[in-house]
Amino acid sequence: MKTQFTPEQLKDPGIAHANQILRKCVHCGFCNATCPTYGLLGDELDGPRGRIYLIKDMLENNRPATEEVVRHIDRCLSCLSCMSTCPSGVNYMHLVDHARVHIEKTYKRTGQDAFLRDWLLPRPALFRIALLPARIMRPFLGLVRHIPSMERVSSLLALAPKGRLPRAEFSSPASLKGEGFRAGRVVVMRGCAQTVLRPQINDATIRILRRLGYEVVLTAKEGCCGSLTHHLGREDEALKSARRNIDAWLAEADRTGLDAIIINASGCGTTVKDYAHMLKDDAGYTGKAQRVAALADIGPMAIKPGLTVAYHAACSLTHGQRIRTQPKDLLKKAGFVVRDVPQGHLCCGSAGTYNILQPKIARVLLQNKVRNIETTAPDVIATGNIGCITQIGTGTKIPIVHTVELLDWAMGGDRPKELAGVELPEEAEAEDITGLQDPTPADDKKTPRAVELA
Ligand code: SF4
Ligand code: SF4
Repeated sequence: MKTQFTPEQLKDPGIAHANQILRKCVHCGFCNATCPTYGLLGDELDGPRGRIYLIKDMLENNRPATEEVVRHIDRCLSCLSCMSTCPSGVNYMHLVDHARVHIEKTYKRTGQDAFLRDWLLPRPALFRIALLPARIMRPFLGLVRHIPSMERVSSLLALAPKGRLPRAEFSSPASLKGEGFRAGRVVVMRGCAQTVLRPQINDATIRILRRLGYEVVLTAKEGCCGSLTHHLGREDEALKSARRNIDAWLAEADRTGLDAIIINASGCGTTVKDYAHMLKDDAGYTGKAQRVAALADIGPMAIKPGLTVAYHAACSLTHGQRIRTQPKDLLKKAGFVVRDVPQGHLCCGSAGTYNILQPKIARVLLQNKVRNIETTAPDVIATGNIGCITQIGTGTKIPIVHTVELLDWAMGGDRPKELAGVELPEEAEAEDITGLQDPTPADDKKTPRAVELA
């Protein structure tokens, strides 16, 4: 794609990088075919190619973001499905991140949108407090959902856990010795949303690692990975989170040595692996961020219950980190029958804070996802991201857990409480799923193709 930035504009490293990305795009439009919002809305400007044009026009002309640009960029899930499809290697992730920072600096949001973006969503502590009344109001969800101006509020209520907020078995700071021989020393990053919504995912991860001989370090100095603020365009806050985590983890690495940083929320993993890019203009942190990314880039292990698992590929894992087969391989080795979900490359609508900010589109994506999952008739759904677990859990009665909870159970840990009522097969064998990759949905006609946003 031809660009027309002036030499003066190109002195800005952010613009220079955006220019390099834009120049790789050959306008082929292949990416539109796998974009969930283009598939639902059918508007060129709600697909990656259209958004790339909008961003190019805004940056080249150094224009403040307009309402139109904001509308179409806000609707982007950052699922990165377009990056998996693009034959030219266009780094849409970095381009849209840059555009969001520009929007944040030049566009004034108002009302509910401003409250959610400026106050509630960037502050995990406030978000946690908001979940308390949300639990009480949950029974009124059906009522609230039908009030047009309350759609985002009802989406927030739907995310609140049913019953009491769960408590973590392991808390920080801690250094938990492994069993048997010493395999290594690792940090487990606990994440901000996950520690509130499903701390048992971290507990299962820690148990597995200790059983395998790893000493597990939980540092109290780490915090949110920064992805929520990063995707809201609030760059200063995101970089502050990144620096704090880098300092916390490298202090552990330098003090007693560290073999890996274990991140079990794929959305967080994608952001942590991108710290080096986010901090590329900070000479004091670029090298440190590269060290952290290397420590976060490892693969795990294996063992056995026979249940059929629908594996939901979280976008941040499959498109963002290109980790596609390893979680399924581990589940199969552990004795589970693993089914791929038809149209599994499409987002479930969670996408960080998307399900709160764009509830209409998120709901249709969720309905499609649940319908596709149900065609595989699973006993349980497994996925690697707390956002997906929470989102999909609001649309189906099929139990949904983190992959690591199933692995922990298979290796002698507790059965996840979500599976309390599920009957176990007597003697089930791991199934060969060759040829079952991404089958076409049985009842494709029922898959909504368009969404009415009026
Ligand atoms: S697939 Fe890649 S090169 Fe083609 S239009 Fe999309 S971003 Fe551009
Ligand atoms: S990130 Fe996802 S929603 Fe956004 S343009 Fe790419 S495919 Fe579409």
